Amino acid sequence: MNRKLIFEKSIKGRKGYALPECDVPAQAIEDIIPKEYIRIEEPELPEVGEVDTVRHFTLLSGLNYGVDNGLYPLGSCTMKYNPKINEDVSRLDGFTGVHPDLPDSAVQGCLELLYKMDLFLSEITGMERISLQPAAGAHGELAGLMMMKAFHQYHGEGHRNKIIVPDSAHGTNPASAAMVGYEVIEVKTDSRGNVDLSELKKMMSGGIAGIMLTNPSTLGLFEENICEITDIIHKAGGLVYYDGANLNAIMGITRPGDMGFDIVHLNLHKTFSTPHGGGGPGSGPVGVKKDLVPFLPVPLIQYKDGQYIRDYDRPLSIGRVRSYFGNFSVIVKAYAYILTMGAEGLRHASETAVLNANYLMHKLKKNYELPYDRTCMHEFVLSGRHQKDIGITVLDIAKRMMDYGIHPPTVYFPLKVKEAMMFEPTETESLETIDEAAEILMRIAAEAEENPELLKEAPHRTPVARLDEVRAVREPVLKWHAKNKEK
Ligand SMILES: *Cc1c(COP(=O)(O)O)cnc(C)c1O
Repeated sequence: MNRKLIFEKSIKGRKGYALPECDVPAQAIEDIIPKEYIRIEEPELPEVGEVDTVRHFTLLSGLNYGVDNGLYPLGSCTMKYNPKINEDVSRLDGFTGVHPDLPDSAVQGCLELLYKMDLFLSEITGMERISLQPAAGAHGELAGLMMMKAFHQYHGEGHRNKIIVPDSAHGTNPASAAMVGYEVIEVKTDSRGNVDLSELKKMMSGGIAGIMLTNPSTLGLFEENICEITDIIHKAGGLVYYDGANLNAIMGITRPGDMGFDIVHLNLHKTFSTPHGGGGPGSGPVGVKKDLVPFLPVPLIQYKDGQYIRDYDRPLSIGRVRSYFGNFSVIVKAYAYILTMGAEGLRHASETAVLNANYLMHKLKKNYELPYDRTCMHEFVLSGRHQKDIGITVLDIAKRMMDYGIHPPTVYFPLKVKEAMMFEPTETESLETIDEAAEILMRIAAEAEENPELLKEAPHRTPVARLDEVRAVREPVLKWHAKNKEK
């Protein structure tokens, strides 16, 4: 079959439309449109017929790989199945057809949904109130840290300017802290993957604003001394931030609020099954305990005298962090997910996510090194160190997985583990799919020893194989130019 893309099929003068000759005199156009805005040169577009255009896009859609194609165990990203009922619900006219500037009285249903979502997520996390405005996890972190700063300033403690971040935290944590103007101090984790408590204690001083804890950590481990940590920080006058992007490991089982955390953000586009990838759209609600409620972003949705209202009259608020209601349709999808799952279902999802991860981990630890050999949460980290000794890198293993039709895990992250491979099978995969993935990975481990060239040259079945990823990011070529074709 012809797998040429549209750009290569372009033939000068070929058209995919039939329009009558333009009968508007040139002068008439110039009278309406200022001269400098009138196009003189033809646009540089591929010149193809309609059939080839349709085939081009159909071919492209098949080159894409998503969770609807197969296993996508990209650690820390929670590529779980996105139930289609959520899509249906979010597309109801009552949600898509309203203008966000309509008065409260005209959008009671939308406001009720936002209010109840706040209640649901507050219950799930053990927080007092939640803002649904942040558009991503990192955005939730930013809003949370701005509240932390506003809280300290309000209490005359504005000098507190240091945030502690463990070396097993998600990379966005130190970045968000730096953006709020905090000095970031790294605390190491010990050989079990827990925060080193004696080191943490030594760091306590009057300048500590708080700690940001990713739990489960990026090692896929539950922090075993979590209550001691929240205690140590609180005694030093700091606040405790819970990065709950991956709440899918504990949802319905335990709550950050009960562990002593003051602020938490969630990723609806991970834990609560809304589709993501390629940069969005996401939603990173941020919740706080009672003492921090006055600082939440505006508007907060309130229920007063039988009416839902947008409350802007909040003098201590950090202000708006996004226009209108945040990514409303994402919130609707996650709301539909919570309602279809119910409390029992959410707990069951977490239990299955953890079970699936442990099952796959145990199957693979015979073939790949397991640096932290203890019960994992929703994900786990393996090391390709032994394979590296015989000249096979984790990148080779990841590329080879594509030949078998499954998406690779997250590789070379977390940085703490050499030749890291971070697997997150999620709860939506069947036993058969996970068994098949385990078999593929065992076969690849054998291939690494018997036929290393097969891995070195992988992938063999994709249109492009090994891209210069750094250059692709630094100098992206996102547009087709006729000139490129000629080169
Ligand atoms: C994904 C993730 C984030 C960042 O979320 P974005 O929506 O990508 O900004 C933060 N923390 C953890 C633990 C994550 O897994």
